[in-house]
Amino acid sequence: MSTAIMPVEQPIPDRHGNNLFTTDAELHSLLKLYLPDALRTHLWPHFERLGALAGGRLDDLAAEADRNPPTLKTRTRTGQDAREILKHPAYVELERIALSEFGLAAISHRDETLGWKGKMPPIVKYVLTYLFVQAEFGLCCPVSMTDSLTRTLKKYGTPELVARFLPRLTTLDFDQLAQGAMFMTEQAAGSDIAGTLTTARLDEAGQWRLSGDKWFCSNPDADFAMVLSRTEGAQPGMRGISLFLLPRELDDGTPNHYRILRLKDKLGTRSMASGEIVLEGAVAYLVGEMGRGFAQIADMVNNSRLSNGVRAAGLMRRALAEAEYVAAHRVAFGRKLQDMPLMQRQLDKMRIRAEQARTMVFQTAQTLARSDAGESGAYALLRILTPLIKFRACRDARQVTGDAMEVRGGCGYIEEWSDPRLVRDAHLGSIWEGTSNIVALDVMRAIRREASLPAFHAHFEGLLDATPLAPAFGAALRESLARACALAERATQAKDEVLARQCASMLYHCASAIAMAWEGVNTASADRLRWAQLTLIHRVLPRDPMGTAAIPAEWNAMPAHSAQTA
Ligand SMILES: Cc1cc2nc3c(=O)[nH]c(=O)nc-3n(C[C@H](O)[C@H](O)[C@H](O)COP(=O)(O)OP(=O)(O)OC[C@H]3O[C@@H](n4cnc5c(N)ncnc54)[C@H](O)[C@@H]3O)c2cc1C
Repeated sequence: MSTAIMPVEQPIPDRHGNNLFTTDAELHSLLKLYLPDALRTHLWPHFERLGALAGGRLDDLAAEADRNPPTLKTRTRTGQDAREILKHPAYVELERIALSEFGLAAISHRDETLGWKGKMPPIVKYVLTYLFVQAEFGLCCPVSMTDSLTRTLKKYGTPELVARFLPRLTTLDFDQLAQGAMFMTEQAAGSDIAGTLTTARLDEAGQWRLSGDKWFCSNPDADFAMVLSRTEGAQPGMRGISLFLLPRELDDGTPNHYRILRLKDKLGTRSMASGEIVLEGAVAYLVGEMGRGFAQIADMVNNSRLSNGVRAAGLMRRALAEAEYVAAHRVAFGRKLQDMPLMQRQLDKMRIRAEQARTMVFQTAQTLARSDAGESGAYALLRILTPLIKFRACRDARQVTGDAMEVRGGCGYIEEWSDPRLVRDAHLGSIWEGTSNIVALDVMRAIRREASLPAFHAHFEGLLDATPLAPAFGAALRESLARACALAERATQAKDEVLARQCASMLYHCASAIAMAWEGVNTASADRLRWAQLTLIHRVLPRDPMGTAAIPAEWNAMPAHSAQTA
């Protein structure tokens, strides 16, 4: 009897194997706008290579690592204590590609990476991360922690500490490289770090020893962790908290004095271990000034928050691109999904959020470069853009990944497709590195303490001034920006916390709409200009729930002279 398998008449569309870089024309235009020609030309083959990997091999490895989470080994078979995270080979290969082949954690700290001599601007790191995260989200936490820990160590560590540990944190040799982590959270100290109970005591040899219980520790077997601890006898509250560098191993190669008690059973980021750690007189090095632990780790946290925003943007891009592919290939009722008006609207709503985030990645990364270069006003701007992208992009990623899942129909709910993993991972962005409420309140703090609002207003008004738009659209953007800033100013002055999330959303939507319009004009992308308009209509301006949400005709009516020059 024949067992021939009948071909399926209409196979389910499968985008696996597509190059995630070469198929993203909008990203190409943005890179031309934001990266200098020589660097962009040099990096193009690397972007293409990572795009090919992310669309195929990395995606396979990520799925495998997600199905095979790490486990904790606490004893050897001969009864010796052990402190080992057993990682699936697929995860280790992901580590090699991210940290060694592309140098994602080291790229900002090296004078040469990917064959380019000289420091890379932050945009390069974030574009590589944006591509990588479209395949694997979990590992991006250790990558970002390692990068951020190195930055904080360079900024606040003594020259001796830096000289001793920097080479391992920035090498690309996979067998030698060290990874970083950040252990802040305790059971009574999550958002409220002032509740930190871990204590640091100076021993007879003048060595700091940490004791306490750290409740959430991602990448718990990292070679180095930045740890917040109260110094013995210090005053209560934030002023008693200092920052320490905790090595996994002591100078003689023996394990430092802490144990990983158990690993968390998580909804997402299942490929990467997060654990609970008890510090039992662990040797650590003071970093920076005593009593300024929180202020100093804030730099690391802000760097990680920006990375979180980038990751959320990447997740949305992956989800959207999958949905677009399905819509372009799946047929129902004799038509492609993408030809159905209701599907077009559904895709547009996803596109708005995904493109807003992408625009804010470029804007924030560019501001980080200016801030690090000491440009006047850039730090104040960075200080507000960072929580804005962390707050809004992470929240939007929850919705976009969920909506994209639905576009695939029933298959979207099945674990052999990427959608469930994206949805599970996307939900974490709004929780770790500060929950939505905490990050929205941080926007107000930036306005209050860093005078960020004038810098924000000046930057985006400057983009508007430089962008020839239909006068009615330009005026709508200008008025919305002014209103969002006025609301944020009023709420901050009045300490009206209940408005914090609303303010953060409005600032983000106005900023992204303006920057997207600027990008649209400068890259001659009619799509980008339209998404900027839709951002304003769908996310900022009041709407009649009984009316339509069409773009007003006058928003596209350019004056005769500028229409000719455009
Ligand atoms: C998978 C995972 C990995 C993690 N990895 C790490 C890690 O590596 N290192 C680390 O240090 N931490 C890590 N965390 C911890 C994470 O950063 C905290 O869980 C988070 O900051 C929230 O703290 P909490 O859990 O104590 O919640 P809480 O602070 O108790 O917050 C509970 C709720 O109260 C709200 N809330 C708190 N204060 C306010 C306020 N003033 N106004 C309004 N609402 C408020 C919050 O928004 C939240 O909804 C991880 C968490 C997870 C889930």
